[in-house]
Amino acid sequence: MNELAFYTDLLGLPQATLTGVTVTKTTIEIACTLTDTRTLCPSCGVECTVVNDRTTRRVRDLNISERAVYLVVSVRQFRCPTCGSCPTERLPFADANKSYTHRQARYVFVWCRKQAYSEVGAIVGMHAKTVERLVLDQCRQVEQLPQRYVGLRRLGIDEQSHRKGKKHFICLLTNLDTGTLVDILPDRKKESLVAYFQRLGPSFCQQITAVSCDIWQPYLAVVATCFPQATLVLDRFHVVKLLHQGLDNFRRRLRREAPDEAGYKQLKWLLFKQYHRLSDAELDTLQAAFAVNAELKTAYFLREEFHPILDRPQAVYATIGLLDRWAARIQAQKITLFDSFIRTLQRHKEPIANYVLDNLSNAVTEGLNNLVRSIRRCAFGMPNFQHLRLRVMAISGRTLKLSDNRT
Ligand SMILES: [Zn+2]
Repeated sequence: MNELAFYTDLLGLPQATLTGVTVTKTTIEIACTLTDTRTLCPSCGVECTVVNDRTTRRVRDLNISERAVYLVVSVRQFRCPTCGSCPTERLPFADANKSYTHRQARYVFVWCRKQAYSEVGAIVGMHAKTVERLVLDQCRQVEQLPQRYVGLRRLGIDEQSHRKGKKHFICLLTNLDTGTLVDILPDRKKESLVAYFQRLGPSFCQQITAVSCDIWQPYLAVVATCFPQATLVLDRFHVVKLLHQGLDNFRRRLRREAPDEAGYKQLKWLLFKQYHRLSDAELDTLQAAFAVNAELKTAYFLREEFHPILDRPQAVYATIGLLDRWAARIQAQKITLFDSFIRTLQRHKEPIANYVLDNLSNAVTEGLNNLVRSIRRCAFGMPNFQHLRLRVMAISGRTLKLSDNRT
């Protein structure tokens, strides 16, 4: 086997004839021409065969044994016999105006999934800016936004802090049936969300059967405007968090009033834990606190009564009845620490009770939140929202493999 035949086999480039190989200590330059002689005129579609000029394109390909491989392609420029425009032939293995092959782009993209552009640039010998452009191009190719909406029935809406301390939140939309990310929006304002969903059209809005979100007024307004037919379910995790806040405020007040009282120490997480999940040692700690303050005990057990209401599979109206009775019991005992929670409960009884229908929750977003965080970490913050969005969408979408059968 001669050298050219060897490299032809090794590279497996479509429609290319290798004409020479130059190997140095650090690079392998492979000269080639394209075998397909036909190029269609982009303006009038006529086949061009008259060669007007020749140029060379130098594109980077995958390394071979740590040597950077460059394809030096002799490219023909034709003249259209009809309109006189001069189209240049395209490479089947690299995009126009790009200095790397498709497979090199995929290779760099996979490297960048968990690493900073600058680090990957150093590994593959490309400028960090080139790596960034390449990655964002690849991200756009795998975004597949319309496909993410197909079959979306139960929608999750959640937010994540974008820049710490700036009160800037991004909004994550998820498919609760498949546990996948649908899209990320730059903010969580009502107008932005309504405009976004309306752009997707009425048939999209009508296909949504249920929405899970937390108690954030703009979300509720968006659901009422865009998905009036859907069942609104307030995320149980967020509901319970509000309930716990009442208990925690009370605990903090007790600590402030009696800072030296040993019984109130290390109580926070124990109060949030359900009674049947407590260990013996935790029970002892809790009992000690209850011995100091009876109101804390009452409050704890009233909170404890809340959980089974949502655990029980039953009709929504029955759940609402139980929630009402629970709130009435608290008010009858003149306990005020759950006041703010009860006000929320009374305002949003039905969407809270809707949880019993099929235990819909926003829990899948938790995993996605971690994904967003990990991308932000490897990019040292990533303040540019569009870049962050593209990368998260690409990674959470179709898994891109190096072995994809495209050169
Ligand atoms: Zn033409």
